Amino acid sequence: MNFFKGINELLFPEGGVCLLCNVETDDVDRYICSYCRNNIEYLNREIDLSYLEKTIYSLFYNEFIKEKIYLYKYENYGYLYKPLGEILLQTIYEKNIMKDIDIITYVPIHRRRKAIRGYNQSELIAGYLSKKLDIPISKNNLIRIKWTKPQNKLNRHDRIRNIEGVFKIKDSIEFMDKEILIIDDIITTGSTVSECAKVLLQEGKGRKVYALSITSGMKL
Ligand SMILES: [Zn+2]
Repeated sequence: MNFFKGINELLFPEGGVCLLCNVETDDVDRYICSYCRNNIEYLNREIDLSYLEKTIYSLFYNEFIKEKIYLYKYENYGYLYKPLGEILLQTIYEKNIMKDIDIITYVPIHRRRKAIRGYNQSELIAGYLSKKLDIPISKNNLIRIKWTKPQNKLNRHDRIRNIEGVFKIKDSIEFMDKEILIIDDIITTGSTVSECAKVLLQEGKGRKVYALSITSGMKL
């Protein structure tokens, strides 16, 4: 066995390990074992949000996926971007939207929050999709200029007010006349991703904005 490959596999066990439940098994397909696969339910559902051409989320919102997203965002399980990225990739193929996308970006978090967390969860997934689809990614261009209270602690009215004027674009050339895919981890009311789309269209002069997210707690 190649020595460095061996070390890599010790540090980053992938073959034969499910990245969602960490159980060693050969029954793994794209980082996910069949047990975990049975706990996720694809919906690939489209919802209507202002400023967005199309908003799609992949999975039914259940306790299983809720916990994985919590671990990913708040408990340093950064490597979960891989199975979660694969889930979104399947939705992109299913909905056949890759042909429309010129550039991929993500909902930015405040740089102070990124410094504390060590990563932006949506940025990691956007990077994964960019590589897999061979579509360029825009990083650190759509930025968050205000520190906001977590949206999940507010009611609907306050969420919309909380998010106004929070995002800005540093250089609009990158988005001009492009069809943009924005990645968010979870859509709660849609006010965050909708505000991002507004800025991408108005400041960035983008042509169309699509949003993709793992799941949504929205009551339909
Ligand atoms: Zn598993």
